[in-house]
Amino acid sequence: MIMRVKIARASGFCMGVRRAVNIVLSASNKKNGKLFTFGPLIHNPQVLSLLKEKGIEIIDDPLKIPKKGRVVIRAHGVPPDVKEIIHRQGAQIIDATCPKVAKVQAIIKKEAERGRFIVIIGDPNHPEVKGLMGSAGKNVLAVDSFEKLSLIPTNEPITVVAQTTQNEEFFNQIQNEIKRKFSEVSVFNTICDSTHKRQREVKNLAKGVDAIVIVGGKNSANTRRLVEVAKETGVNAYHIESEKEIKEERLKNLSIVGVTAGASTPNWVISQVVEKLEKIKGRESSFFIWIKRFRNFLVKSNIFIAGAAGMLTFVSCFLQGFLFRLPFFFIAFGYIFSMHLINRLTDIDAIKFNDPARREFYERYGKVLIIFSLIVIVMILFFARFYLSFNPFLFLFAAVVIGLGYNFPFIPSSWVKKIGFSKIKEIPGSKTLFTAIGWGAIITFIPYLHYGGDFSIKQLSTFIVMFLVAFIRTATFDMRDIQGDLIVGKETFPIVLGEKRSKLLITMTILFLSIFLFLLSASSFIFPVHAIFFLAPIGYLALLVFASFSNPFWYTYSLEFFIDIAFYLMGFIALFLMF
Ligand code: SF4
Repeated sequence: MIMRVKIARASGFCMGVRRAVNIVLSASNKKNGKLFTFGPLIHNPQVLSLLKEKGIEIIDDPLKIPKKGRVVIRAHGVPPDVKEIIHRQGAQIIDATCPKVAKVQAIIKKEAERGRFIVIIGDPNHPEVKGLMGSAGKNVLAVDSFEKLSLIPTNEPITVVAQTTQNEEFFNQIQNEIKRKFSEVSVFNTICDSTHKRQREVKNLAKGVDAIVIVGGKNSANTRRLVEVAKETGVNAYHIESEKEIKEERLKNLSIVGVTAGASTPNWVISQVVEKLEKIKGRESSFFIWIKRFRNFLVKSNIFIAGAAGMLTFVSCFLQGFLFRLPFFFIAFGYIFSMHLINRLTDIDAIKFNDPARREFYERYGKVLIIFSLIVIVMILFFARFYLSFNPFLFLFAAVVIGLGYNFPFIPSSWVKKIGFSKIKEIPGSKTLFTAIGWGAIITFIPYLHYGGDFSIKQLSTFIVMFLVAFIRTATFDMRDIQGDLIVGKETFPIVLGEKRSKLLITMTILFLSIFLFLLSASSFIFPVHAIFFLAPIGYLALLVFASFSNPFWYTYSLEFFIDIAFYLMGFIALFLMF
């Protein structure tokens, strides 16, 4: 018997915190001046100790900031006079103020300039509220209780705003009271949607679970509010900072446990908590969990992704008009399996943050997996040599050498300083491009080289389709892994381009792929007309990719599994059309 774990969709970093963490990590990877955060970046002990390990110091006094230092303003923002002092100190300001907080600051500034008295419903000791008060000048009051309302001057027009993480009910009660007591009041509900959403979700989650585990720093205001909201529903709520604080005896023998997390909790901490909870004995039938574990095993071991690449060889043969042969499938399967495995094993530091469970798996079976992938490489070379003609063997051999060489330093050390990298892997953005080229080349050219003939536009177009689907897949996962990659200083394509532009590029790639496939098949000029059916799995892929944009913490294996299903669907469609 097992315990089921239900994760709230809006768990973990909110947009503002994610943005601030990414800004700090990006800045820490550029070595041009000592880096500080003005106050703790977020209220999460794991993230803070990680930043400390990276040499980022916390500073609270602007007068102590050294000249030429770099100071990150956290998502809460700071009062304008603090910025002014930092400037005067000769330090560089890296402003990571959340755009939503910046908007409240702008409202306050404008309203104060119009001569209105500003009431901020929030905790006067919270850094965000201090920053907001600074934007108002003198005519301002932070209100955190009904008693404080007596301090509001009666003869001035009043503007009311809220701390972005304020409790909705408290805000409504106070603003109603202000409206009742004073004549000229305008109210801006500046509570952030992310806060609304989280609190609403906890209430809904509580209806269907036996207990809720809330993950987040003990001094994180929004996490504590989530705990309050959960407790108000009557469900047992446990506030923990990490998986180490899970008390198994309290949760044992429950059916379903809900998990949510504060806006400053990183995904890897949530993943570790979920992993541990799923191992606790519960009251649910274990049938579905075994299916889920089997699915996770297929994904973690790279068997599922390798199968997806194998299925695309059906598509490749269909588009190029070749007779399908089983070695094409096995070669694509084996190549993608071994290369992904070797790359991930050499990338274990980033995996620790992006996918802690996968790291545990690789650490436990690392040696066996390496030996296994080397055996697989020998096997596919054997297949290519003895079941196909000589050219695919040569091509595969070269692809294996390049694939393995991707991880090894080949640039002389005297050059490394000048060009900035020693391995292909270290070229900024190379992973996404090289992975897509690898997929496209193996899936398209192994069949082509086996049959020979002139290289035509058909081969080029098939390569483009295969390259693009692999690019969309890799770039989507690079987006998901952005934090872990930033922590270890990897420069993947979304890190180089930035999140916004990367999303746009992925969206444009999906659009281009769909139009390209449509035109080339509908005209039946290059592809058979039935290739138009591939647009259905591409549409499905697009939906998943867009869903992953809005919720980066879509439980890792589900996202990978469902995205790879798109390639299986393409393969089955091709299989059906061919036979
Ligand atoms: Fe920005 Fe909302 Fe997050 Fe506050 S809770 S940092 S306002 S996104």
